[in-house]
Amino acid sequence: MGNNEVQNSAGENKENENLNLLTSTQIVIHDALKKLGFTENAFEILKEPIRMLNVRIPVRMDDGSVKVFTGFRAQHNDSVGPTIGGVRFHPKISEDEVKALSMWMSLKCGISDLPFGGGKGGILCNPRTLSFGELERLSRGYVRSISQIVGPTKDIPAPDMYTNSQIMAWMMDEYSRLRKFDSHGFITGKPLLLGGSEGREEAGALGAAICIEEAAKIRGLSLKGARLIIQGFGNAGSYIAKFMQQSGALVVGISDVYGALYDPDGLNIEYLLQRRDSFGTVTSLFDGVITNEELLEKECDILVPAATSNQITAKNAHSIKAKIVVEAANGPTTMEATKILSDRNILLVPDVLAGAGGVTVSYFEWVQNKQGYYWDEKEVKDKLREKIISAFQQVYELSNTSKVNLRVAAYMVGVRKMVEASEFRGWI
Ligand code: NAD
Repeated sequence: MGNNEVQNSAGENKENENLNLLTSTQIVIHDALKKLGFTENAFEILKEPIRMLNVRIPVRMDDGSVKVFTGFRAQHNDSVGPTIGGVRFHPKISEDEVKALSMWMSLKCGISDLPFGGGKGGILCNPRTLSFGELERLSRGYVRSISQIVGPTKDIPAPDMYTNSQIMAWMMDEYSRLRKFDSHGFITGKPLLLGGSEGREEAGALGAAICIEEAAKIRGLSLKGARLIIQGFGNAGSYIAKFMQQSGALVVGISDVYGALYDPDGLNIEYLLQRRDSFGTVTSLFDGVITNEELLEKECDILVPAATSNQITAKNAHSIKAKIVVEAANGPTTMEATKILSDRNILLVPDVLAGAGGVTVSYFEWVQNKQGYYWDEKEVKDKLREKIISAFQQVYELSNTSKVNLRVAAYMVGVRKMVEASEFRGWI
């Protein structure tokens, strides 16, 4: 995730190109609050997480030495309810980045109308260099370090970059040991056997796919035969390709970090999924590969950036042929490009809306853990659809009434309930 993701999300504030993620997130939130007519007090409460914990985690390494890792947990705002959000293991994570990401989670919770505020955690490490045993000890050590401020009614962690259901299982087990009871609702993204939810793995992609359907309806575009380009063929991109094919769309382009495949008559997605490796790469197996840059400018109806940040910029935004762009990745469109696409009447569905599916199904997992009764896959997906469609409509209507683009409208919807809840509580 790059430093420009949030300033890009604003689609405004051109002068902020070099600001860090936290500063630019604050600027966007400030802007949304002003458009809603809230006072500076509202900004004072939302401009930083209400709680930020820095921890040092000693881990016994396989060679007998002890290594001390640095970790963070940020809780942005718990006026609406407990905080929720992922824990990432990453060699470049910083305190400011974790703070900003917790604010993004608050926005997603507000947009999806979940009874939560945003949280985020991280450990500075390179998980690829750690053994299975070291990863387990690090995961358990992190839970011990943050156990005072987390819990099913306080702050609920989840998977994020380079963390998975196995790591969630270790963390849940450690928390249960500390609390001396089985606490499934402490964390989401668990294996099914330990109280995970059906549909959690593909939830992010399904949320994005539902946004594609809604955007197509607005533009009067039938998905049957609509031509789709997806940048990135990892977890998000491959599921989106599958869902879109099921809806009758023609996936004409896909890409990975090594290049892109394009066929105006449609690609064989089933075959590509079979040949794809666990890193989401497949293009190097084929002849006639084009570059990612070329792919973005190819003829299509819908473009879905699902790889990385800053892919649609002032340089290529004029050449995008799609009528609809749905941001499945975080921050793929720069702020200048957002304006160019907007001026060209290309409908851009922002990341904080298109990416809200994951946290929504985390909420469903938490609900199922609380009630001890589990839903089948259809029920999870139906409920997700209901939430995302409602979120989309709310953002779309606000963009029309406030005469702002969908990105600015999404930020406005995202902050509104937090401010109102803070007012009811007498905080501001
Ligand atoms: P992943 O690691 O599984 O896959 C990433 C894909 O992008 C791979 O195919 C990789 O080869 C490709 N890629 C990497 N760098 C690239 C580059 N510079 N140019 C072109 N392709 C490149 O990751 P993921 O879980 O699929 O997540 C991708 C993005 O989507 C992230 O921003 C993530 O936060 C977001 N995400 C979105 C959803 C959603 O559906 N809304 C769900 C999960 C993750």
